[in-house]
Amino acid sequence: MSKIILTGDRPTGRLHVGHYVGSLRGRVELQNAGEYDKIFIMIADAQALTDNADNPEKVRQNIIEVALDYLSCGLDPARSTLFIQSQIQELAELSFYYMNLVTVSRLQRNPTVKAEIQMRNFETSIPVGFFTYPISQAADITAFQATTVPVGEDQLPMIEQCREIVRKFNAVYGETLTEPEALVPKSQVCGRLPGTDGKAKMSKSLGNCIYLSDTADEVRAKIMSMFTDPNHLKITDPGSLEGNTVFTYLDAFCKEEHFGRYLPEYANLDELKGHYQRGGLGDVKVKKFLNAVMQEELEPIRARRSELERQIPAIYEILKKGSEAARETAAQTMAAVKAAMKINYFEDAALIAEQASRYGEK
Ligand code: ATP
Ligand code: MG
Repeated sequence: MSKIILTGDRPTGRLHVGHYVGSLRGRVELQNAGEYDKIFIMIADAQALTDNADNPEKVRQNIIEVALDYLSCGLDPARSTLFIQSQIQELAELSFYYMNLVTVSRLQRNPTVKAEIQMRNFETSIPVGFFTYPISQAADITAFQATTVPVGEDQLPMIEQCREIVRKFNAVYGETLTEPEALVPKSQVCGRLPGTDGKAKMSKSLGNCIYLSDTADEVRAKIMSMFTDPNHLKITDPGSLEGNTVFTYLDAFCKEEHFGRYLPEYANLDELKGHYQRGGLGDVKVKKFLNAVMQEELEPIRARRSELERQIPAIYEILKKGSEAARETAAQTMAAVKAAMKINYFEDAALIAEQASRYGEK
């Protein structure tokens, strides 16, 4: 069986370091390892519209931002198909049929949908499109017969719901769709990076992000004002690592070699943590170290971005070509789905012949 990746992001803003450690960094590694037969990366504009229906300009403007972030991080259009969701009409068509396989109560139980409805204060005014987005996400994944979906941890219930839809479809209509597996980062911290304010998740909607496209000064300022241990007032006080965002970010970004370069008095992160817990290590020193570590990772991304920002028409061309290629694949799946569901009347010569002979015999 082919190994196929499908994943993507909503064009609701520029991408941030949560996206990077949660999914983007891993995608680039998978792409470069060359073990997958096909990699589809989707800019999920139709999904973004489910909770931004009144703000299409925001979605439209952010498509290029996401594409710039993708390319700056090393996604390569020669090896990964980059495309825009709304341009693949088969995705809407598949969603329409999958809706028959999912109950309202099952959607209501989806923990991610529940949390996101609460975060957006939708209460009773949830757009139907938003409520059903796990179904449309199942269409996105299955249209490409994806075997692997690299995502942050918040997306696990989505993949589980997709797997259920696949099993139901295959049980009712015969083996047609591929059951995907989620691929979350090995490190728990990377699967759900907290915001700079210490809130559970860095999220465009919460405004607690370090963006991949932030300048070096912006990154430094955000790190220096980051949430740490509120009880660590004097340097000599023992500090706590629990919920301490600076250490969480070090867990996500720091490698042993960084100590030699930027903080040679410690051998590794465990030593630094130990000193912080004992007392005698100030927040500013740790934050400066984190800044050095993150700037090292972000600088090449920023440099590539500033090159790419001068090539906007060429990037739209990449997305157009990618969307055309993605559509061909989705159309093949759609044809298989229609045949399985017996809604391919005009291609089914046997059906027409059988009915003709049945009536002919009367
Ligand atoms: P929005 O607030 O518009 O939903 P978002 O910041 O949650 O935006 P998405 O486009 O929904 O971003 O998520 C894209 C991908 O990035 C998903 O795979 C998601 O799991 C992952 N991701 C998003 N935020 C984080 C985070 N803080 N840590 C790890 N992964 C994340
Ligand atoms: Mg999200």
